[in-house]
Amino acid sequence: MFTNTPRLPVMSGKRALTSSSDGELPQPAQKKMRKQEQEPPQKLKLATSVVPPRHPVVLKATVKQIRPTGAATVAGAPSRATISTGASRRPGWDLKGKISDLETKVQNYQTRIKSVNQENECLKASVSKAQKRTAEIEEENNRLKKRLGQCEEELVTLVTIKGDLEKTTEERDGLKKDFKKLTEEHKVLEGLRDHLESELRNVQTQLSIQTSGLSRCQDSLKESQEMVQNLEETVAHQREDLHLGEMERRKLHNTIQELKGNIRVFCRVRPLLSGNSDILHIQLPANDNKALTLAKMEESHTGRTVDTQKSYNFSFDRVFGPRSSQSEVFEEISQLVQSALDGYNVCCFAYGPTGSGKTFTMEGGEEGDKWGVIPRAVRQIFKTAKGLGEQGWQYSFTASFVEIYNETLRDLLYRGNPKKRPEHEIRKNPNNEITVTNLTYQKVTNEDEVHNLIMLANQNRSTAQTGIPTLRVPIL
Ligand code: ADP
Ligand code: MG
Repeated sequence: MFTNTPRLPVMSGKRALTSSSDGELPQPAQKKMRKQEQEPPQKLKLATSVVPPRHPVVLKATVKQIRPTGAATVAGAPSRATISTGASRRPGWDLKGKISDLETKVQNYQTRIKSVNQENECLKASVSKAQKRTAEIEEENNRLKKRLGQCEEELVTLVTIKGDLEKTTEERDGLKKDFKKLTEEHKVLEGLRDHLESELRNVQTQLSIQTSGLSRCQDSLKESQEMVQNLEETVAHQREDLHLGEMERRKLHNTIQELKGNIRVFCRVRPLLSGNSDILHIQLPANDNKALTLAKMEESHTGRTVDTQKSYNFSFDRVFGPRSSQSEVFEEISQLVQSALDGYNVCCFAYGPTGSGKTFTMEGGEEGDKWGVIPRAVRQIFKTAKGLGEQGWQYSFTASFVEIYNETLRDLLYRGNPKKRPEHEIRKNPNNEITVTNLTYQKVTNEDEVHNLIMLANQNRSTAQTGIPTLRVPIL
């Protein structure tokens, strides 16, 4: 009967049994026990004497214990009713009957005890099963607790993971947005790429055209390079030839100058300052630019004869008349400037009385056609030096300016204290070069520098102070 009972009622039965093992009985059971204790002692005694119960306490306890179960109550009820009914019916003297009743009752009890014992055994088995089950459940419980602990740990992990997941979700959302953006950009870029690809194809086509053009150009470049190389060689040869030609020209030029005469004297006749262009006493032959005749009327010493016209003929390397221009004069001088540039020493000076036109000839006026020998020579020097520089010649120019006044040398480029002017002497060095001691030598590189020095020299001239004519020797 108990083995087939579902698990939950067994559990409640266990609880009832656990109470009994502690010595406490449920309230109804305790009341019944007290009721039995109140029964008359004779009856018990009699029963004991007929069939003495082996474990009367156990019997009582068992009877009380089985009360809660419905089955036990049903089993016990008829026997009790039978006992009470039999006792009440028998007369007092029917002892035998009473004994028989009691025996029946005892038998019933014994049967009852047997069944209760059986039930007890069942219950014990059930209890042990329940205990086993309890142990199992406890074990299960422990296992579950352990599992719960693990689950809690897992839960913590999962919470962390959840946080991470939320973060990741946010990141994913952000990435999704970025992805969307990038997808749009990608589309734009794809369009751009397509456009660029088409451009690239065009460029490649152009490139292939240009490559073929380039290869043609490279061929022609190669040819040109060869040509250039040949030309360079030719130029080098020609330069050499030019150099040799230049040297030859210098030699020949110098030979011509020497043939013309190392010392040449030119005569220039200035016009009359009154404006009258006829100079009656000077005659210049029309077909000879080297001759000059001075005509003079000589009076008779005796007074008896008529005054006679006397002519004095002069010949020069060149005679320049009153109408000769500054450029005509310089044509002759420029050949000497060329000789100086060719490396020969040249000296040019003007000689004549005051007012004869020396300054006019050497310096001239401000206007270009009035320029005299010096500015024209300076211009020629730098111009020719530049032209020859392109042919590989290098020139360096040094200027000095000396005045000889009353046989005293004066440095016209002196810039120091006028009271402390040094003294100068003309000396010849071992190379036969003429030098002047303590003279200012100034490096010049262009026309303007030379003109500035000329201005300085004019300020330093003695004649600027005395008005006395001087002979100037410009050394260039
Ligand atoms: P010098 O220097 O010999 O004392 P200048 O050169 O000062 O003489 O000349 C005196 C004047 O004559 C100046 O006014 C100058 O301009 C003038 N003169 C000189 N030669 C000529 C010339 N060839 N043509 C025109 N005028 C001249
Ligand atoms: Mg003068």
